[in-house]
Amino acid sequence: MLLKSVNYVRPESVTEALDILSSNEGAAPLAGGQSLTNVLKHRVASVDLLVDISALGELRTITRAGDGSLEVGACVTYDEIDHSPDVRAGHAILARESSHIEDQQIRNRGTIGGNCCLSDPTNNLPPLLVALDATMNIRAVGGTRHVAAEDFFKGYFLTALEPGELLVSITIPPIPVGGGAGYVSLSVATDSKTIVRAAARVRVDGVIEEVRVVLARVASVPIRHHAMEEALRGVAPTAELVRAAAELIGSDVEPIADGHGSSDYRRKMARVVARRAVLAAIEEGGRK
Ligand SMILES: Cc1cc2nc3c(=O)[nH]c(=O)nc-3n(C[C@H](O)[C@H](O)[C@H](O)COP(=O)(O)OP(=O)(O)OC[C@H]3O[C@@H](n4cnc5c(N)ncnc54)[C@H](O)[C@@H]3O)c2cc1C
Repeated sequence: MLLKSVNYVRPESVTEALDILSSNEGAAPLAGGQSLTNVLKHRVASVDLLVDISALGELRTITRAGDGSLEVGACVTYDEIDHSPDVRAGHAILARESSHIEDQQIRNRGTIGGNCCLSDPTNNLPPLLVALDATMNIRAVGGTRHVAAEDFFKGYFLTALEPGELLVSITIPPIPVGGGAGYVSLSVATDSKTIVRAAARVRVDGVIEEVRVVLARVASVPIRHHAMEEALRGVAPTAELVRAAAELIGSDVEPIADGHGSSDYRRKMARVVARRAVLAAIEEGGRK
């Protein structure tokens, strides 16, 4: 289906973009356009005015602070993340996962902000950002607010963004010494439709001191599995104990069923990917 005719504007600053978005009810930000143009083509949503934010310099920077935290502008593309020395230095897992998103064309245009603002449960980056304890920096005409990634994703194609707001950047804290991150997806084929995913971040100092385990494709948004985290906190980082903790993923998660797997199959696979993601995070921490 062809794209319906739609008005288009290219503001020169974030301030101008926010003014336009707040004064036009039918306006929507256009970032990489990889999802939005498809949505418009298929008439799933209608937009009166596309506000193209993709070239705004303010949204395209990657900054590593002195404490090792990373701030990635909302319109930085997957390819730029993959090739950024700053990302690779301290958050290699983000570079790696960005490099796994579909094909080079999508990676040249698709942005980290669009990936999150779409809140498509199949997208790669949301569970990783929740596991890494990222903060979403949001601007409106009236000012800036900060929302934990964990609270940003609200449902299928639904986020904490209010009308007129823009996600401007994402801040990711440093992965501490003795810490690591892991990300494991079970897909229909390599880098294709995902059945279930898990992302984890740990810090080990003799025992597991800190842990975040996030599951995706078992609910409409990425969810932390608090029971598994609780079972891991304070224990030795052994394969047996991680396996036992993963077994706690049970009827508390209710994955969807589709042509690629039943709900029960997804639940069983969630245990497998969660275990592997935590072990990968422990292994990465041990290498530092
Ligand atoms: C064939 C194909 C395969 C794909 N495969 C994958 C895959 O394997 N993994 C994966 O993760 N993704 C995949 N995607 C999705 C792709 O990553 C998109 O780039 C992503 O979903 C949206 O990013 P975008 O920059 O293109 O955003 P756009 O399409 O421009 O925007 C998406 C939505 O977010 C809003 N938005 C964008 N930026 C902001 C902002 N800064 N503030 C507020 N709202 C904003 C827009 O208004 C729109 O509603 C695929 C897409 C296609 C077409």
